[in-house]
Amino acid sequence: TPRCIGTSGAFFDMYSRKHVEEVFNTQIFDIYAATESGLIAFECRNGAYHVCSDLVYLEYMKNGSDVSFGEPGSLVVTKLYGRGTPLIRYTSIDDVVTPLNNDCTCGLAGGLIQRIHGRKSDSVLLPDGKMAFVSLFENILGESLSEIKVDKIKRIQIVQHKIDSIELKILVDKHLRDVGHPVDKMFSIIKNKLRNRLGPDIKIGIKEVNRFDAKDPYIISKVDRSKFVEKMYLV
Ligand SMILES: [Zn+2]
Repeated sequence: TPRCIGTSGAFFDMYSRKHVEEVFNTQIFDIYAATESGLIAFECRNGAYHVCSDLVYLEYMKNGSDVSFGEPGSLVVTKLYGRGTPLIRYTSIDDVVTPLNNDCTCGLAGGLIQRIHGRKSDSVLLPDGKMAFVSLFENILGESLSEIKVDKIKRIQIVQHKIDSIELKILVDKHLRDVGHPVDKMFSIIKNKLRNRLGPDIKIGIKEVNRFDAKDPYIISKVDRSKFVEKMYLV
């Protein structure tokens, strides 16, 4: 068994993460980096992301204004080292993250990121300009599973067919299928929570699937975003 595993390179959803931790029976430490900027932040044993403030200067913005601590914003990166192309207020990393103004109990100093919510290009855009990120769907599923007290879900995928129509595909853990609440009840709990967050005008479908391919994306959106203004980040 490895002592720990370091991951980097792409947004790591909690289902894939849990699966890898179970298979290798160890803890994952995520490293937040991008090809253009290099290291941005790394996860400590408490699961907080510590910003590499000696390597990058970070800003968190929405529609051109800084967001407050605890509020999600688009990541803007300025790289503080290197002799190649300068990277100044770079936005193309395309991630939305929430900055935090606390001290971490692990003892490391410096800025913190509470959570990386996902890429804007992998989000769901709603008719009123709200964008729903991977973290929103994970939070809703997490709340639903803790309500029914059985972790029956192995993996999910969100497909947005139209601006007001979302389908959630769910792979149920076959060993836990008949434990606790029936699957139908779980689906209706998830659907209600989604409706509360996304609004009553969004059609929400839930479909059980038998398998996913390893490379299936977490979110597929078929909506054209060219005329769209970002109004709110739902995380
Ligand atoms: Zn820490």
